[in-house]
Amino acid sequence: MSNLDNIFRDLVIANRILAKEEVVDAYGHVSIRRPDNPNHFLIARSLAPDLVTADDIVELDLDGQPVRNEKRTLYLERFIHAAIFEARPEVMAVVHAHAEDTLPFGIADATRLQPVIHSGSFIGSEVPVWDIADNFGDTNLLVTNLEQARDLAKCLGGNNVALMRGHGFAAAGRSLIEVVRMSVYLPRNARALLRAKQLGGRIKYLSRGEIDARNRGYSPYSTETWRAWEYWANKAGVGDLLTRPEA
Ligand SMILES: [Zn+2]
Repeated sequence: MSNLDNIFRDLVIANRILAKEEVVDAYGHVSIRRPDNPNHFLIARSLAPDLVTADDIVELDLDGQPVRNEKRTLYLERFIHAAIFEARPEVMAVVHAHAEDTLPFGIADATRLQPVIHSGSFIGSEVPVWDIADNFGDTNLLVTNLEQARDLAKCLGGNNVALMRGHGFAAAGRSLIEVVRMSVYLPRNARALLRAKQLGGRIKYLSRGEIDARNRGYSPYSTETWRAWEYWANKAGVGDLLTRPEA
């Protein structure tokens, strides 16, 4: 099996995991940059992630346009992926989703969404909030062109996650496993923080040193990282698609 076949399978797994873990529903998407051609990325056609198979994956360029003749409908918000890949050469995978528990933090400015639990550390110490209205006024809130997407990518900067006011979030990772894991734990971290706020008192965020210590211990194909990917894939019913890279 070719490396590209494995990437297609991994992208199917990522779609199913994000659906099963309720990061995405009918909407939301995940993409991976082609390792052999950094100017192209792979993403499903316009379809709910839980229904995605390898046949649904299309290849787009950094303008968000299909590189082959494509008659099927594409995601309206595919430009989010194109602009982040364009702005961040080290980013290999992107998720955009509307996970409900992240939404309050894009709306209320009283509490920042930052890591408060160990598994939330991978979202990074800064989570900027992008408001489409700042530069584009009254829109339908969707990112439907490159100009809007580049503005979002600019707000994301060198961070891992940006919240999108009244809409959702965009996450960028160095690998597909990393961005999926980040996207699964982002809403959990948000839930823990929301509940802590209900208890009252001062919120104790993870310190910069703690976040750095967690990141230093991260390796995309370590046993610990693989354990979660394998677990989530089986839970999502696609354990048969798993291909572990050579250690
Ligand atoms: Zn969206």
